[in-house]
Amino acid sequence: MLTDLEIARAAEEKAQSIIELAEKLGLPTQELEPYGYNKAKVKPAALKESSNKGKLVLVTAVSPTPAGEGKTTTSVGLADAINARGTSAALSLREPSMGPVFGIKGGAAGGGYAQVIPMEDINLAFTGDFPAIAAANNLLAALIDNHLHQGNELRIDARQIWWRRVMDMNDRALRQITVGQGGPLNGFLREDGFDIVSASEIMAIVCLASDFSDLKERLGNIVIGLNLDKQPVTARELGAVGAMAVILKDVMKPNLVQTLEGNPAFVHGGPFANIAHGCSSLVATRAALSVADVAITEAGFGADLGAEKFFDILCRQGDLKPEVTVLVATIRSIKYQAGVPVKELNNPAPEKLAEGIVNINRHLENLKDVFGTRVVVALNRFPSDTDEEVATVQQLLDCPVVPATHFAEGSQGALELADAVLGLLAEPAPEVSFAYDLADDYQQKAKQVAQRVYHADSVSFAPSALRRLKQIEEAGYTGLPICVAKTQYSFSTDPKALGAPEGHELQIRQVRLSAGAGFVVLVAGDMMTMPGLSAKPAALGMDIDDEGVISGLS
Ligand code: ADP
Ligand code: MG
Repeated sequence: MLTDLEIARAAEEKAQSIIELAEKLGLPTQELEPYGYNKAKVKPAALKESSNKGKLVLVTAVSPTPAGEGKTTTSVGLADAINARGTSAALSLREPSMGPVFGIKGGAAGGGYAQVIPMEDINLAFTGDFPAIAAANNLLAALIDNHLHQGNELRIDARQIWWRRVMDMNDRALRQITVGQGGPLNGFLREDGFDIVSASEIMAIVCLASDFSDLKERLGNIVIGLNLDKQPVTARELGAVGAMAVILKDVMKPNLVQTLEGNPAFVHGGPFANIAHGCSSLVATRAALSVADVAITEAGFGADLGAEKFFDILCRQGDLKPEVTVLVATIRSIKYQAGVPVKELNNPAPEKLAEGIVNINRHLENLKDVFGTRVVVALNRFPSDTDEEVATVQQLLDCPVVPATHFAEGSQGALELADAVLGLLAEPAPEVSFAYDLADDYQQKAKQVAQRVYHADSVSFAPSALRRLKQIEEAGYTGLPICVAKTQYSFSTDPKALGAPEGHELQIRQVRLSAGAGFVVLVAGDMMTMPGLSAKPAALGMDIDDEGVISGLS
């Protein structure tokens, strides 16, 4: 089989222009801002005029292996297959961050014959959203240090500044730094650090804001830290909102691209799935809903994290009503959940499947019981899967499992999956429900998620986390959803507790307020907001020749 890049490049040569695609979708050309031949930003006005005619489908996954289970690939395959069946479908997907592209993960625009193009651009600087978000984030950081330097009228406590700098590269050396070195001309000496752009609260804000005025309101609400009276200081008080919004002037417009088969994909926004909610932007999802009968979106990590946040944060804030959930599983993930080492995941092991299947059952049960959603299990077939293994999984699960081969065959490999989804969409959808009530206090919310979604017995808070929670509540930040940052590999906080663990304790060691995004982050376990590079980073295998042809961008 050809590489992802070779497949993408061959399709790009034959692809329709972005203007042709927009015309087919009924988007007026004057509302389009093309970035070259095959990508464009879409002005919000174009999308507001058309009604939200579509039905929303969420793609989520079982607890993943380190390689990923193919949520993006399956989203793309499903969209192409629904279109192939004669019903219009559009995608809303996250923009990849450059850090992981040069690190370990490779591209994030799908794979095989289920990709969005232009693959290279999407994986690089694309339409400039990430650089603009970084600039807005770092402008706020610069204004904070300048405020300290110029007399500190707001009495910001330099030891309690929460706002960090960001850049879009994996660079562990910048996790913890000292700024202001070199004497009084360079400001006050203090500890600081860099996160990756996906971890910036501004990324989450862009992805949750419904329009530009909502964006500005949220930017103003950002709490950058505390003053000497331990009261929150906001970006609004620093006067930073206008200038940050200026930098973000084009960022709120969703990016339109296409799949290998010429169907629409809005690729927009890429918040982390741990300290943020891990979904593409609300405006992109609304755009997909406005141009097609079916809109398909993906939530990061496994369903315990991704789907929970999709429902409890995004659907509530954005008033979205998903009608069907596709749970992506792989034979590899089932073996991984049974303790098979990563190196051996491609070896046949049908006897291991019964042990690992408990993980799928747990996710299924949660999606149905906690969130009230209808679920289709998609078995994303890898070349190493045997027919015996697929048949075993179908026997073991007591719900329909649809094997799909879109990676190898494009839409033709996901027609059965499309039929299963379309079949459910033809029936009236049940009301979705949530894991907790917004009126609950934060400890109750944590308990609800821990017990109902993670199947833990209890929740504990480190003393400093409890103090921060009290501070946040006393400052009036109540009624927000929670956003738990935890490992994606297990329902518990121990990445090695595979399968469907029970009786564990959710230990919250840190609490962070994201008042602009509109949630309170509860950090359980170790959490990385600035990844590092591996011993053999993907970057070392990349090149570009004299004709501008790139190699090694997987
Ligand atoms: P996720 O969105 O869940 O992180 P992706 O769709 O990005 O997963 O897929 C993860 C990686 O696995 C990608 O490199 C993709 O090309 C590859 N992949 C996905 N599905 C298949 C498959 N059926 N066969 C082989 N490789 C696949
Ligand atoms: Mg993905």
